[in-house]
Amino acid sequence: MSGKMMFQQLTISSLIEHAARYHGGTEVVSVEMDGSLSRSTWREVEENARRLGSALDRLGVDDGARCGTIAWNNLRHLQIYFGVAGSGRVTHTINPRLTPEQLVYIINHAEDQVLFLDRTFLPVAAGLHDQLKTVCHYVLMGPRDEEAAAMLDGLLFYDDLLADADPGYQWPELPETTPSSLCYTSGTTGHPKGVEYTHRSTVLHTLGANQPDGLALSAKDTILPVVPMFHANAWGVPYTAAMTGAKLVLPGADLSGPALVRLIDGEKVTVSMGVPTIWLGLLEALEAAGSTAPSLTRATVGGSALPPSMIVDFRDKFGVELIHGWGMTETSPLGSLNQLLQKHLDLPPDVQAKLREGQGRPPFGVELRIVDEAGNRLPDDGETQGDLQIRGHWIVDTYFGRDQSALTEDGWFDTGDVATIDPDGYMIIRDRSKDIIKSGGEWISTVELENIAIAHPGIGNAAAIAARHRKWDERPVIIAIPVPEAAPSEAELIAFFDGKVARWQVPDKVIFVDELPIGATGKVLKNQLRDAYGEVLIEDAG
Ligand code: AMP
Repeated sequence: MSGKMMFQQLTISSLIEHAARYHGGTEVVSVEMDGSLSRSTWREVEENARRLGSALDRLGVDDGARCGTIAWNNLRHLQIYFGVAGSGRVTHTINPRLTPEQLVYIINHAEDQVLFLDRTFLPVAAGLHDQLKTVCHYVLMGPRDEEAAAMLDGLLFYDDLLADADPGYQWPELPETTPSSLCYTSGTTGHPKGVEYTHRSTVLHTLGANQPDGLALSAKDTILPVVPMFHANAWGVPYTAAMTGAKLVLPGADLSGPALVRLIDGEKVTVSMGVPTIWLGLLEALEAAGSTAPSLTRATVGGSALPPSMIVDFRDKFGVELIHGWGMTETSPLGSLNQLLQKHLDLPPDVQAKLREGQGRPPFGVELRIVDEAGNRLPDDGETQGDLQIRGHWIVDTYFGRDQSALTEDGWFDTGDVATIDPDGYMIIRDRSKDIIKSGGEWISTVELENIAIAHPGIGNAAAIAARHRKWDERPVIIAIPVPEAAPSEAELIAFFDGKVARWQVPDKVIFVDELPIGATGKVLKNQLRDAYGEVLIEDAG
């Protein structure tokens, strides 16, 4: 007779129950809409999440119904993450900076029954209200507010709902394959596509992504997720924080460098996560404030390529280790993180630093491969570039509301990224397949050119794009923001590439601008740059 082990469903409510039971007194700090700091604990977060579950029952919100949020990273949003999913509904986090048309499309496509709103976004929702066919309840995430009530008929108030709710509400026992949250990709072409995560995929992502060579968060940490809670579940950090019982600091609406410096120093943040643009702002603000960020030890950076010069600046000036990661909405999001192997430990620091520049290797639970255009596997030799594909426990199979699987015939998800993988499994993103520059049949990585441009002391930020060229089809053009007092000339910046890339990869032109178009998830919108500057070389040639 064989023995038997216990079987328990992997559920999101078990994460918050754990946090309440074993880390109940640990703080969750949040910047509120008025800029004030509120202090709560994991015990209170769980209690309020349960109250929310009961409030949704009372409102008659269906099991499995999508409940949208248009909100900043704050305490109520955290409670909604757990209360909605824990009670068997789906937390649909919505990117507030989408166009009104996209918001209408997404909310109708998801058939959201409830819309939770921060005060900032009430006017937008009130304006779209007539076009949102499925939303039965609009809930303002705060106390009663008569001015707000006058803007939208029937507006409910989160704090009232919770005050009237049942504090004895118990989490239902859900099958682990129940959908738990929904996030639409921030795709720049076509309609956004919804990725619907399950309790199981979320819990496995939480466990998998937090291994010692992964995010490595612990109960000793104070975590500041700057990545928005509408961007791929804030990289899963709300769940990881609950699982580990770390102190959590939610930054609210103000993600400017000075505001982040105040939070990091005031709350003694040890670890943070966000996109490179955030760290550029933080770097300036730390220098301006004269802070050495003594509590901050490390930060995970991803979402777009982390410029190597930024790793050096944070390490040398602030003793902060930047850990490069890669992921997508479709991958929950963590697909790889860059930590060294034992055999690297005796290497000289500069060789180690070079290894840390790439996007890293996958944790247990996901696998990466590169393939050619026909789908044939390419070698993991660190040199051959190919289309990056992924499979694993927390990777999308079929987009929300679609019939057809998004996978290849042999069950892999094609990421749309172009990468190399070395024999140890270290992956480097060379480009987005639609961004890569194809010059005379050869590929030029925009990421590589950007990293060089940003390393120039006179450049604040830069993007490389493919501009159309009569002879070579496409040639690289750099769009750069100069640092006012140190701005290089175009010729100086072009000369800066000499010896750093092959001669034919040196950009043809530099265009200086005051700002770059940045999307809601902090990435440079290269399609807009291509629209604006894609023809400059043809025009220059006359
Ligand atoms: P999203 O679904 O909005 O998170 O976008 C996912 C895409 O962002 C990926 O397919 C990559 O093109 C890009 N991306 C994410 N992390 C990185 C990174 N560390 N380096 C370069 N590109 C990245």
